[in-house]
Amino acid sequence: MIGIFGGTFNPVHNGHLQLAKQALERLALDQVHFLPCANPVHRGAPQVSNQDRLNMIRLSIANEGQFSVNTLELDRGGASFMIDTLREVREQYPHESISLMLGADAFNGLLSWRQPTKILNLAHLIVCQRPQVRLNKDIFNERWVQSAEDLQREKFGHVLPLAIKQSSCSSTEIREQLSVSKSVISCLPKSVLEYIVNNHLYET
Ligand code: ATP
Repeated sequence: MIGIFGGTFNPVHNGHLQLAKQALERLALDQVHFLPCANPVHRGAPQVSNQDRLNMIRLSIANEGQFSVNTLELDRGGASFMIDTLREVREQYPHESISLMLGADAFNGLLSWRQPTKILNLAHLIVCQRPQVRLNKDIFNERWVQSAEDLQREKFGHVLPLAIKQSSCSSTEIREQLSVSKSVISCLPKSVLEYIVNNHLYET
């Protein structure tokens, strides 16, 4: 069972890592692919390079054997549509169960994505809570299941809300903090903070 974790990761933070670790354990995933987007569809381009975002993800998962980076969207370039990405992942893994992992804020915006219903023909959705976000349970409500066992019967097509230990980390807040001071930022892995400082990222 493969977990796909898409995002801008600008920068990757402990909330991302916590989500991925808990999903890996609770759903007994074999692997989690961190999949940074090239150009996010719903917001402006990140102010750091793709290579920097990629490097920071690599540093953050260096000691996690079941985590890897998937550069499919960066290699494709242009606007990153998850439906195109999942089609490619499905071609690569035709017989595996695939789960797209996302936070409640991202899930709530899902109907504005390209071909949202077709996404469920390719993958399950694992929706993790995020502080201050009320999950919209009306989206795909006929597809919801309540347990990891329910998910395991099929290779795609269900939505599982996953109660995880919540983290208030957010890339936006981290970028704001970094533009003011480089002092300890508790949401960042040490190696990522060092990379940011050494490469003068997010200084303005
Ligand atoms: P930004 O603040 O710039 O929007 P972000 O912190 O939401 O960034 P993204 O890279 O956009 O980070 O998020 C990738 C995925 O991780 C999304 O599905 C998002 O909902 C989820 N996510 C990010 N942070 C958390 C968190 N603290 N708890 C749960 N999910 C999270």
